[in-house]
Amino acid sequence: MQKLQICVLDLVCKGPTNTLWARIMHANLASIMPQVIATWCEQEGHQVTMICYTGSEDLSKEIPSNVDLLFISSFTQAALLAYAISNYARSKGAVTVLGGPHARCYPDDAIQYFDYVLGFTNRLTIMEVLSSCTAQRPVGKYLSAGKQPADLCGVRERWKFIEPTLQKAPFLKIVPMLGSVGCPYTCPFCIDASVPYQSLDFQVIKEDLRFLLEKFKRPWVAWHDPNFGIRFEENMEAIASAAPPKSFRFIAESSLSVVTEQRVKVLQDNGFMALLPGIESWFDLGNKSKTGRITGDEKVRQVSDHVNMIFGHIPYVQTNFVLGLDSDSGTEPFELTKRFIDRTPQVFPGYSLLTAFGEAAPLNLEYQQAGRVLPFPFHFLNNHLAMNIKPKNYDWVDFYDKVIDLTAYSFSPKALYKRFKSASNFSTRWMNLMRAVSSEGYGRLRFFRQVRKNLISDKSFRAYFEGESKQLPPFYYNVIKKDLGVWWEWLPEKALLHNENAYYEKTSECKICTAPPVKVG
Ligand code: SF4
Repeated sequence: MQKLQICVLDLVCKGPTNTLWARIMHANLASIMPQVIATWCEQEGHQVTMICYTGSEDLSKEIPSNVDLLFISSFTQAALLAYAISNYARSKGAVTVLGGPHARCYPDDAIQYFDYVLGFTNRLTIMEVLSSCTAQRPVGKYLSAGKQPADLCGVRERWKFIEPTLQKAPFLKIVPMLGSVGCPYTCPFCIDASVPYQSLDFQVIKEDLRFLLEKFKRPWVAWHDPNFGIRFEENMEAIASAAPPKSFRFIAESSLSVVTEQRVKVLQDNGFMALLPGIESWFDLGNKSKTGRITGDEKVRQVSDHVNMIFGHIPYVQTNFVLGLDSDSGTEPFELTKRFIDRTPQVFPGYSLLTAFGEAAPLNLEYQQAGRVLPFPFHFLNNHLAMNIKPKNYDWVDFYDKVIDLTAYSFSPKALYKRFKSASNFSTRWMNLMRAVSSEGYGRLRFFRQVRKNLISDKSFRAYFEGESKQLPPFYYNVIKKDLGVWWEWLPEKALLHNENAYYEKTSECKICTAPPVKVG
């Protein structure tokens, strides 16, 4: 096989940026799969350049000018940047490949802008791309292994690509690791709900942890597992057998249902510093928080006690909520969350606006069939800049009023003071404060207020939200143009639009007469 000049680009942000948060944290958000692909390509004998794009790099200089094959990994919020970079690289003669969550969620859109689009990817998928490596235009080729790979390169194998990424992080350096893929739960909105749970090789995990102790005194490790606590005993055994207690500092996502007090103590002994459990709703998904059928105020009390118990052992907890679920109506869900914050002052609340990411979850078929999905450009699909599903039980202005009220409450001086005062260490205080004053707290609040103002004052803006018009409001157009910076010039003209019902249209095709499906919306 001809030796190829390959570049693997991991987009952790959606445009050039130089904020304090970006400079300190973006390199810590690197994904694992681009590093695995870079490793596989090199093992196949190719020349590989890996770039973790944190927003400050000049990609026109860093992507090698003679690149044959450019892999880009992107979340949907960075898709327009990915499309623009692909357009640029193709103009220089490169073949381009898209992988990552956006490729899985919107493959039919992405194949218009890439030569290859990858769904589930294993080593054979990559070898197929490497061996063909030819331009596929005007429409690219979609490849998928059908399921997640059972083997991925560990930290030692990926280290060549991890190290330069971590060098971009000035203080905190977090190594991404994976103990499992998929999730046994079936939260209907989640991309991992339909991926069968499988744990990865515990032997590799142990070796990687030992390897990290050669590199750092007390390594920080973020487990990228969708739900870390599932094979709890095996994971803890792997950590405990790798080194003495508290040799590491870990961050993990886990549902509350698997984090009992006994297990929290084990987590504490093993150096867990931050947990991110999903609560999602006070009226639904009780299985995740071990509250069963209990809802409303009783669930708040139970979950709050549970989270306060965790704080007795783990210094940082972020609880995640989804706003706008069909199970919610009226002011109660928002007021209950405020009550939860009062009862659990240390917690950092993470809010997501309900979003349908293309083919990510079967529930999206229902939303598309009902004509409830709005065509917000991908740039805004990051769970907070836009809610692309018309709420079932709220009028838009009413909904934004409640979201603004809750966000303002969560990041009010009183809440920040209580969070600051009750935090158990300096890093926790610093992290809470930085997140509150950055785009996550105050920045979001400003954006929500502007959207609410536009909903009231601009009829065409409101018509877009109601699904009565597909004309993108200039407000959103201008945000994209500003955020993409130099890459705006390379954005393909049609890329601002996508078919928001593509998933439903392709799956609802009549199997008997092959008649085209009925359009919705
Ligand atoms: S528990 Fe978490 S990872 Fe698992 S399906 Fe639900 S939201 Fe997804």
